[in-house]
Amino acid sequence: MKLTFCGAAGTTTGSQHLLEVNGQKILLDCGLYQGRRHESVERNRHFPFDPASLDAVVLSHAHIDHSGNLPNLSRQGYRGNIYCTFATRDLCQIMLADSARIQENDIEWLNKHRARRQEPLLQPLYSPPDAEKCLRQFVTFDYHRKMLIGNGVELTFIDAGHLLGAAQVILDVTENGTTRRFLFSGDIGRGGDVLLRDPEPAENVDFVLMESTYGGREHEMSPQAHQKIEGILKQALQDNGKVIIPAFAVERTQLLIYVLNNLLDEGKIPCVPIFVDSPLAVDATEIFRLHPECFNEEVYEFLFTKRNPFHFDGLTLIRSVEQSRALNTLKKPAIIIAASGMCEAGRVLHHLKNNLDDPGTTVLFVGYCAEQTLGWKLREGFREVNVLGERVRVRARIETLDSFSGHADHSELLRYYQRLSGRKEQTWLVHGEPERSQALQKALRETHQATVEVGRLGQTIEW
Ligand SMILES: [Zn+2]
Repeated sequence: MKLTFCGAAGTTTGSQHLLEVNGQKILLDCGLYQGRRHESVERNRHFPFDPASLDAVVLSHAHIDHSGNLPNLSRQGYRGNIYCTFATRDLCQIMLADSARIQENDIEWLNKHRARRQEPLLQPLYSPPDAEKCLRQFVTFDYHRKMLIGNGVELTFIDAGHLLGAAQVILDVTENGTTRRFLFSGDIGRGGDVLLRDPEPAENVDFVLMESTYGGREHEMSPQAHQKIEGILKQALQDNGKVIIPAFAVERTQLLIYVLNNLLDEGKIPCVPIFVDSPLAVDATEIFRLHPECFNEEVYEFLFTKRNPFHFDGLTLIRSVEQSRALNTLKKPAIIIAASGMCEAGRVLHHLKNNLDDPGTTVLFVGYCAEQTLGWKLREGFREVNVLGERVRVRARIETLDSFSGHADHSELLRYYQRLSGRKEQTWLVHGEPERSQALQKALRETHQATVEVGRLGQTIEW
């Protein structure tokens, strides 16, 4: 068996690993590399293998850094199956279409510059129809269903607790009469997720390929997230203001809807109109509702004893621009959830532009914001910011709640590894900045006396 790290080695995006077994080539994930614009275009356009020569693709989950280059793979000649769970397929339908639109906008931006320098214009990496066509190659099945996907290769998905439908990939590989178990962790969740089940411990593992995003870093622990959000919302709504929650359209928005649904159910926050203002978030919310097979016990019970976890009276899901604009003139207290989470794009920008100057407004951040993004500036307490080309004074109250994260932190990754049973002959770390992967490597070596290495881009290992 041979394994080549074709992406997400020394970085956290562009997840792609090529496995060669019994003369077959199996690609694990086909993510987009998301770095500087020029470099990303080059790296995403050229695969380090011939897409037509692949025999199978296995997809761990729908996040774009794991799935986002699939339409390009198909466009460049891959015709085989793409194996994933049901929910991953459905999320890919909306996320790849959204990614295609972003590709087109990015290329338009690049081409403007190229035209000025009289350089040849570029084509987008893929178009919305390319995204749709590659979905026809998806073959889906549930967790714990063992499937033969090639000569001597059996695939089983188990829960990763990271995103709806996210899976760890188990491959039972038989070569020369010997069967060994290969585990690809995909991205690993924290456990105790509001919507999802905990990551499952794989058994009898011989080889581990594992993510290391938060190696050496611990999340701020806040087990009382519900109470904290309750306090923030009560205070904000008492002041008769609007609450604006910038949130990623997929997962974070649905998590918020469910948390609000519970708080309203228990009478803990006043009944005010709640709006989800993002077409992608509205689509994603519908998909979440269709996949109870992914819910944890609490959400599953809520669905069958109460109601749809992602809908309640007073919740309005907004797709149209007109309805979104109408929120500008709304004078009463309300909660508005809008993308994007880092305030770099999306409709949240209009709401911020209109409301930041109002001391009655509360902006609540529920996720990470990269440095220099508008979200980061607001979190850092800037008193004036640029929104959609205009200087805006910040008089709104800024609140943050960092307890929701889709990724396990250092201790949680160690616990995850501890719970894997089997010989764990070799462990390779990927999906992390070098410093993060090395921190996890050090800790794993100290606690497990295991062979733990960090994968390098382009490196091939034989096992
Ligand atoms: Zn992910």
